[in-house]
Amino acid sequence: MEKVKSGELKKHIEEIKEKIELNDCDIKRELEDLIKYRVPLEEAKKTVLRKNSFAGSRTKNIDEIEPNMKGINIVGRIIKTQKKEIKVNNKPLIIDVGVLGDETGFCQFTCWYKTSLVEDDYVHFKNVFTNKWDNRINVNVGKKSFIRKKSNNQFPTKQKLMNVKKKSIAEIIPDDFFATSKGIILQLFHRKFIDENGTESTYAEGFIGDNTAKLPFKSKIFNFDIGDLVYFSSAFIELDDDLPYLIFDKNTKISKIDQEKDEKLKKLRYDMVNKTHEIAQLSDLVHRIYFYDVLIEGTILYIKPESGFIRKCFECNKQLEANKCNIHGVVENYTDIYVKAVLDDGTGAINIVLDLKHLEIISDKVVTDLKVELNNDCSKDEIIRILTSNLVGINLLVNGNFVNNSYEKFLIVEGVSVPQDQTDYKLNYLYS
Ligand SMILES: [Zn+2]
Repeated sequence: MEKVKSGELKKHIEEIKEKIELNDCDIKRELEDLIKYRVPLEEAKKTVLRKNSFAGSRTKNIDEIEPNMKGINIVGRIIKTQKKEIKVNNKPLIIDVGVLGDETGFCQFTCWYKTSLVEDDYVHFKNVFTNKWDNRINVNVGKKSFIRKKSNNQFPTKQKLMNVKKKSIAEIIPDDFFATSKGIILQLFHRKFIDENGTESTYAEGFIGDNTAKLPFKSKIFNFDIGDLVYFSSAFIELDDDLPYLIFDKNTKISKIDQEKDEKLKKLRYDMVNKTHEIAQLSDLVHRIYFYDVLIEGTILYIKPESGFIRKCFECNKQLEANKCNIHGVVENYTDIYVKAVLDDGTGAINIVLDLKHLEIISDKVVTDLKVELNNDCSKDEIIRILTSNLVGINLLVNGNFVNNSYEKFLIVEGVSVPQDQTDYKLNYLYS
């Protein structure tokens, strides 16, 4: 083993430190490890430098990150972190997932090994790569990445970063991660659930809205009631597929606003609570990336070829994939019809998905025809023909949640009805 005097080693450590961001202890440890394995000192120095500096990569702000980047460095504050057990090749693996923030925004991160990261840590993620996961950009810290915890009192704290700029409800988007706004509690239910420790607790869920839009929320805070106007800050934005909802948790501050003193607020509250559903125009919706609870009146133009019979899980009503439910595995199941149609309201067109319970409201004939087909050979072309001949040209009133993602604009249909003046409308449509 090459003998290196500690005074001499110190000189080399200083030399390395000028070129990379690594503390004395780490450099010393890495150098000594290499020397122990008979690596000559000069070679060991080069290795430490190579391992810890990433040529051409520079530190990126979070708002500069895009999916599928490689070898980038990010500096930020750990906002949330949680250990999760997953299975890789049937072996259990503990990973860290969470949210990282800087002054430009937030992103998800996944460390593919167990770390000692805790909330409010200021960290350098080095040589990391990005992808998209659950509709958000995710920073991956893998085996070839490095995490350096640092202390930096100049960098904003977790609390400061989460306290984002105030927006109207309609302006809140999934990429924000956190929301500050005010709105009226429009719906409120209390639900019980059993947490992972087996203890029963209660949370509240409902809708909060202002004159621009409404959003669902889940809350562990109970200092408000239906009709209250509340101000909230540092609420987390969770995603259910494409649709965001608010989480009021230990980090969220909620306060009631005294409405009686403010005539404008009193009027807003009256309008919100008494608002009847107005029919929206698709041309007004297309600029949004989502909108909860809209009502649209339009005509079915086309039945998409992916429509057909499907099997659904009895427990959760989700479609089976390869005869299994993604959540419940092999379960009792039932047949439903999946109808993907294009609905046009004269200002624009969107995709809607209808199932058997919707078809039962729209037309008895289509249900009867489909049931006959189900007992026969179920030819795909015949199903499309039945759906097309019975549904195209029909005028529908549908309500549900509007989603505009990178693939398509669609409505997750909750309810459907057929307006009274159907015959006239259909005739007008067919002969215009
Ligand atoms: Zn299921």
